[in-house]
Amino acid sequence: MILDGKAVAVQIVEKLKAELAKKNVTPQLAVILIGDDPASRVYVRNKQKKAEYIGIKTQLFEYPVDVAEKVVLDKIYQLNNDKNVTAILVQMPIPEHISREKIIMAIDPRKDVDCFTPENVGKLSIGLKPYFYPATPQGILMLLDYYKIPIEGKHAVVIGRSNIVGKPMSQMLLKRNATVTICHSHTENLEEIIKTADIIISAVGKKIVRCKMVSKKSVIVDVGIYKDSNGNLTGDVDFAEVAPLVDFISPVPGGVGPMTIASLMINVVNSYDDNNPVS
Ligand code: NAP
Repeated sequence: MILDGKAVAVQIVEKLKAELAKKNVTPQLAVILIGDDPASRVYVRNKQKKAEYIGIKTQLFEYPVDVAEKVVLDKIYQLNNDKNVTAILVQMPIPEHISREKIIMAIDPRKDVDCFTPENVGKLSIGLKPYFYPATPQGILMLLDYYKIPIEGKHAVVIGRSNIVGKPMSQMLLKRNATVTICHSHTENLEEIIKTADIIISAVGKKIVRCKMVSKKSVIVDVGIYKDSNGNLTGDVDFAEVAPLVDFISPVPGGVGPMTIASLMINVVNSYDDNNPVS
């Protein structure tokens, strides 16, 4: 069965839209975009479009690639203090001359809808509730829950250990009582480890999961998204050969991507009133 993130995300977005209309409130998302990376521009435009559709007000602050670090930090401080702004998002990556650490540390954790700040990441890692959960892992858990895939007691293998996907995914699966193995580029016997998984979550950005590594019981979530040599979007899993062999698999595109945006929208909607979350 296909884990249809696109369809599930539509339902979430419609629910959020109805909820905001009922409450008659307007959360406000401020987005900071530095430089002219075309992919970042597309990501930002997609997030803004989805947010506006739901009824979230958005503001975009664009800066040239050589903007001074202080200018961006001052903007973040100003947005932190602006009562109308409920959510702040700094589109990554940012240019090298700007300290990622300083930018992240500057964001008010109560407006940190990406879950980048040490307070939110720290809370997540000790099992406390952060103000916001990171969008991609939260979206993946919602997708698994939608299809009633059991997590407790299962062996989940997470491939990739990035701060935005692999690490928080592992922590959130642990919190749900999965037995978690984290793999990365130095992992020995990757294939043997993947073979023992009930749930495989691959967040690498290249072809990793092949048919000989999976079994019928495998649930596969493909986070990777990149262009193949023909310019087509593809994921970490060899979908054509793996899909017929397993019970559940998420496609690329149409799997984790839409769930990530829907999950981010949940965070932005909840940023209006984090005592009264929508879901
Ligand atoms: P990242 O920072 O690009 O890191 C990739 C991870 O993969 C690293 O931990 C790396 O290990 C590991 N890795 C690299 N080669 C490996 C190999 N041969 N075997 C095992 N592990 C290997 O990760 P990311 O930012 O999480 O992105 C990963 C992919 O997910 C990308 O394609 C990205 O575009 C996609 N993504 C999609 C969404 C979505 O919403 N669909 C969201 C976020 C990311 P080391 O740590 O040892 O280097």
